[in-house]
Amino acid sequence: MIVKSADFVCSNTQISKLPPATKPEYAFIGRSNVGKSSLINMLTSKKGLAKTSQTPGKTQLINHFLINESWYIVDLPGYGYARISKSKKEEWNKYIRNYLEKRENLQCVFILIDSRLEPQKIDLEFCASLGERGIPFVITFTKADKQGKVKTDQNVAKFRKAMLAFFEEVPQHFITSAELQTGRDEILNFIDEVNQK
Ligand code: GDP
Repeated sequence: MIVKSADFVCSNTQISKLPPATKPEYAFIGRSNVGKSSLINMLTSKKGLAKTSQTPGKTQLINHFLINESWYIVDLPGYGYARISKSKKEEWNKYIRNYLEKRENLQCVFILIDSRLEPQKIDLEFCASLGERGIPFVITFTKADKQGKVKTDQNVAKFRKAMLAFFEEVPQHFITSAELQTGRDEILNFIDEVNQK
């Protein structure tokens, strides 16, 4: 797929104010600093579209970007901030779960995982929680340029193995680097295929 246009549509704190659910959308989520903004900018080839390195947990917004005037990329607030209060975490949970469960045009969630890390409990739990709710997702390993291919492949294999504790079949995954544009075509082709269905 060629990205001809990518435009910021709106930032929301309320589910009721999201754009009408008339176009397919794909949500991106992960721990803070996982490289979500960089990935969105890489996919759209627009450097400043999603803001990189914002202060974690400050504003919990759902950001919609319209691509080729026909589908949305949705930038969801990250999870796993060490420094936010318990009540803020619960607020996040309610708000995001509500979005993930109710948004009828949500086609697939891209769960971003830092490819440098061994499997993290919080990421595995998040995958499991989507699985339990029947929300379709794929895994996107980020920052693959930060170490050698062997290390990336080892971490990917460990993560997939850890997922087998929750899943009979492990969902599809992508290996990406925003720095090197790795995985861009694969992700856009995947979205294209889902859009055609
Ligand atoms: P977010 O908080 O998940 O939106 O993460 P950001 O996109 O702001 O990235 C966090 C940090 O990781 C920034 O300093 C980015 O430059 C860096 N980063 C993100 N993706 C990559 C990548 O693919 N390769 C490298 N080397 N650095 C990356």
